[in-house]
Amino acid sequence: MSNDQSVEKVAEACRILGRLDLTHAALGHVSYRAGDDDSMIIKSKGPHEVGLRYTDPSDVIRVNFEAEKIEGGDGLQAPGESFLHLHLYKTRPEVRSIVHIHPEDCLIMGLSKRKLRPQYVGYDPSSAKILAAGVPIYKSAVTIHDHEKGIDFARFVSSANVAIMRGHGITVLGNSIEDATVRAINLCRAVHIAYRMALIGRTTRLSKSELRSLTATRERGNRGSVEGAEGLASKWGYYAELTGSEKVHPG
Ligand SMILES: [Zn+2]
Repeated sequence: MSNDQSVEKVAEACRILGRLDLTHAALGHVSYRAGDDDSMIIKSKGPHEVGLRYTDPSDVIRVNFEAEKIEGGDGLQAPGESFLHLHLYKTRPEVRSIVHIHPEDCLIMGLSKRKLRPQYVGYDPSSAKILAAGVPIYKSAVTIHDHEKGIDFARFVSSANVAIMRGHGITVLGNSIEDATVRAINLCRAVHIAYRMALIGRTTRLSKSELRSLTATRERGNRGSVEGAEGLASKWGYYAELTGSEKVHPG
């Protein structure tokens, strides 16, 4: 497979999400679009497929925008939901990576029809920010397995970077594999807290100034964690280390 570094990284993203138990059983996929040639690399399905947590670079294939495999090993085929990825890439040229997984807490909250609101700040501002921006909930519970459904879903997502799919899962977009993966982890964390708050029968509301603090840019100088690409790299390093992801399949 060409683009070896990206292939390695898609496999690593799958292992991280799988090992954090952010999907149901073996389901889900991560994709990456390297160029503008109407193709993407994506975690495969098919007779030889493995679960997300066991994904090896050899489980990643190249699929064109007709959802056909154009590169990859025998016994591996394009996911049925390749249409979900390819139509988002077609309509969002800035998007480079997409995560689609089936996290249980997001499923339950999506079905509950409760409004997702941020309830904390300092605990984890990055995940609270996602809820503050609003999480659209796609109404249809069926899989996105043809062009028509892919077009409809991309139209629904519009300019958002996250979506909960009622009775199904979540889709998260990013400008890199790390960006989409860490955003997916953050969405799952925020929804997990919202779910547990709902279980104890309470929700809290942040004050206006607390809400504003989520979006304010602060001059940190030489203190605290870094933001941007460097911050993302350190978060990625943490999850890779935590899940032992980089130690899988050493050969
Ligand atoms: Zn799905």
